[in-house]
Amino acid sequence: EAASGGHRVIRYDASLERRLTQRATVAADLRRALLAGEFHLLYQPIVELPSGRMTGVESLIRWTRPDGEIVSPADFIPVAEDTGLIVELGAWIIDSVCAQAAAWQRQHGPDALTSIAVNVSARQLVDPALPEIVAAALARHRVPAHRLTVEITETAVFGGGRALATVTALAQLGVSIALDDFGTGHSSLGLLRTCPVNAIKVDKSFVDGLGGTPQQEAIATALTGIAETMGLRTVAEGVETAAQARRLFELGYRQAQGFLFARPLPPAAIDALLAQPHPA
Ligand code: C2E
Ligand code: CA
Ligand code: CA
Ligand code: CA
Repeated sequence: EAASGGHRVIRYDASLERRLTQRATVAADLRRALLAGEFHLLYQPIVELPSGRMTGVESLIRWTRPDGEIVSPADFIPVAEDTGLIVELGAWIIDSVCAQAAAWQRQHGPDALTSIAVNVSARQLVDPALPEIVAAALARHRVPAHRLTVEITETAVFGGGRALATVTALAQLGVSIALDDFGTGHSSLGLLRTCPVNAIKVDKSFVDGLGGTPQQEAIATALTGIAETMGLRTVAEGVETAAQARRLFELGYRQAQGFLFARPLPPAAIDALLAQPHPA
């Protein structure tokens, strides 16, 4: 309805209402999907340069709806965050990842994978129960804390407060902390001083910039240089071409992840990779 007078026009916004209703529908659907077991995790190898040997994996969630449609996490994680359902879903993810890590340890030995990574979103980091959830999952499945990497984004811990306290508590458990999408946030370098970090994952945008301007290569070089000086692991994300992998190695990168090496894979495919003999 429009206000009279012609100055202020308050219109009934049908598209906004539709969006909100859709959100509520998706939220209810997510809750149902969790109970119905429609989520599963894929694992993308993290490899050593230049050999390409898998040293770790990152877990990535997928949602297969009853009609077979696969929904991208980019579409449902934000809704799960807004509605708070990410706390419940996140606990399920952490438990599943620890169960999988334990299974791989049993089948392939305790050192088969250096690290198995789990993504944790901003909303989970302001939940004071998160360190307990992680500690309980590690204990339940008898996974050593140092085998788990928690990936957080800079934006989630920027501003300090409760998120920073949670990350500190996680670090005290002995889990490894990785700063995801590094270089794209507000305070990339500043955070390295305040937040207990063990690894940085250099965002795909820097990898895509390789071979472009000298400035872009200079930034990519500086990022791994700083990390190395601080004793942090660096992983280059989103490596798609052999030329990128070669250049990254020349610039000092020793770990990478991307479609060039492997896509996110179901656990059985990781099993097959772990079963392959590799040079010691
Ligand atoms: P992310 O944590 O930055 O994950 C990397 C994304 O890049 C993944 O997309 C992965 O499939 C994709 N990727 C890997 N290598 C390449 C490559 O060479 N080229 C290209 N173009 N893409 C590549 P995915 O699986 O769709 O996940 C998207 C985002 O959703 C993730 O970004 C993460 O922020 C979020 N996400 C995924 N799984 C979880 C989860 O279990 N929990 C939470 N909280 N967030 C998750
Ligand atoms: Ca990640
Ligand atoms: Ca990332
Ligand atoms: Ca990302």
